[in-house]
Amino acid sequence: MTMIGDKLQRVHARIAAACAEAGRRAGDVTLLAVSKTFGPEAVREAHAAGQLAFGENYIQEAVEKIALLQELDLQWHCIGPIQSNKTRLVAENFGWAHSVDRLKIAQRLDEQRPEHLGPLNVCIQVNIDGGGAKSGVTPQEALALALAVSRMPRLRLRGIMTIPEPQDDFGAQRAVHAKARDLFEEMQSAGLDVDTLSMGMTADLEAAIHAGSTMVRIGTAIFGGR
Ligand SMILES: *Cc1c(COP(=O)(O)O)cnc(C)c1O
Repeated sequence: MTMIGDKLQRVHARIAAACAEAGRRAGDVTLLAVSKTFGPEAVREAHAAGQLAFGENYIQEAVEKIALLQELDLQWHCIGPIQSNKTRLVAENFGWAHSVDRLKIAQRLDEQRPEHLGPLNVCIQVNIDGGGAKSGVTPQEALALALAVSRMPRLRLRGIMTIPEPQDDFGAQRAVHAKARDLFEEMQSAGLDVDTLSMGMTADLEAAIHAGSTMVRIGTAIFGGR
């Protein structure tokens, strides 16, 4: 077992334990391996250990990596800020975009998504705790943007993504994640066909799973410190 394979196994064990604790099935939570700043060899190693979905923040860096790893059948998720001049790269290279937080960005992704690739999976990034100068729509704005995305032919609305401010306390982490879950359920009640609550990172994956996360985005615990 390689070091990355070993760490992946430990993350899977953490996910399974958190699911058991929360009375959820381990299969309900998808692991997204965040490979930002790590090279293609690290991704190859994770893939050899069975990992298929990878998250990237820096679009230019990601596109180069994606090209080098084309022969592997990987699923690429854009989880970093998307500027207007980068939408085409996202539309043409990724399977998912978690960080859509403006109508204009969604419209450009919809226009630029090549038809043969099928719809681009989209999560609305929500600034759930009102933290600093962070990306993301407010929870109040999220429903309207989600509705707009749900009507775009080359996008497929999947859910929401959050990056709360780091907190040490489990209860505090969980309280913020619970707000995201409430918003997610509000979307479902509004008739939106959403299935993805993208939240939880290395430091707070247990609290996120407790609150209902369906996709945790883990970098440090798999690839090491950046
Ligand atoms: C870097 C990053 C992660 C992974 O964070 P770790 O703490 O290394 O697990 C998850 N989501 C986003 C949006 C990130 O930028």
